[in-house]
Amino acid sequence: MSMQRFCRVKMLLTIVITLFFPLGRATLPLVINTWPFKNATAAAWTTLQSGGSVLDAVEKGCARCEVEQCDGSVGYGGSPDESGETTLDAMIMNGDTMEVGAVAGLRRIKNAIGVARAVMERTDHTLLVGDSASVFAENMGFIAEDLTTNKSMNIFSQWLKGNCQPNYRKNVFPDPSKSCGPYKPGAILRQNKREQHTNTRSHDTIGMIAVDQDGRVAAGTSTNGLTHKVPGRVGDSPIAGAGAYADSSAGGAAATGDGDIMMRLLPSYLAVELMRAGADPSAACKAAISRIKTHYSEFFGAIICANTTGHYGAACNKVPGFSQFHYMVSNSESGAPLLKSVDCF
Ligand code: ASP
Repeated sequence: MSMQRFCRVKMLLTIVITLFFPLGRATLPLVINTWPFKNATAAAWTTLQSGGSVLDAVEKGCARCEVEQCDGSVGYGGSPDESGETTLDAMIMNGDTMEVGAVAGLRRIKNAIGVARAVMERTDHTLLVGDSASVFAENMGFIAEDLTTNKSMNIFSQWLKGNCQPNYRKNVFPDPSKSCGPYKPGAILRQNKREQHTNTRSHDTIGMIAVDQDGRVAAGTSTNGLTHKVPGRVGDSPIAGAGAYADSSAGGAAATGDGDIMMRLLPSYLAVELMRAGADPSAACKAAISRIKTHYSEFFGAIICANTTGHYGAACNKVPGFSQFHYMVSNSESGAPLLKSVDCF
């Protein structure tokens, strides 16, 4: 081919690519997850590459974090509650059938996403909680173990020594901003205490989306929730539409951050519905964050989004100490997990 002809073909190709792939090259299959949890991405990617389904990929990816504890926010030995116990929340969603399996406040079982999948595949239910979820898990062959570690005991005892601060109680006596409990109902104060102790490091979550070659979507989450939470507190992660959502006719989304706030606005559901309406994943993610900002401008949180053609994006709310959000991607272009980041707005 002559140089002139080569240049013409190249220009034509560039125009075609720009016209048809305006968001950059999208390739399938795709794995995307919150935070720089690289081994989790690799586990999901390897699962897809060796013929596993998108559900297998999400389960294996999140389970890797449960074993490795990732940054301490997933799996055993993290985020002790007010009584020092670690409990786990997880969910998995099949975007083909819209089936969901989830567990919340799971005690004594390390593989929360595995139990969530068992809820989906071995019951007609969607969400099991607390001790009963653990009994179900044991019956399904999961091993009961202590989720406490020296590290979680240490976090707990430091908290006790520091007069139980930060503290998520309000309108109780004695004053929870100064003293430990037990607490009794106190005068209802008007201030919004939540915003005073938003702590970007007291929680994280793995949220993952997998899309296969044919555009089938699955999404899932696994977390040990919020450190020093009131026992029984369940965040957004095991709630479909809040922590994650998947629909093979539109896409998938997964959120991380202050679940007590985020779950009120169902950001994952909103993002998927916006992608269904034609929004690109970055715009859908941004709109979901904006919706929460309208009500809670200071909330800590981020979201990842992917559509069925392999385009993806992310967005986060800019607050002091959190101006950039990191997430991982593997697709047939990158192969190996690639660290990505987005500037919060
Ligand atoms: N969303 C989780 C929760 O609130 C924690 C996180 O993702 O930071 O339980």
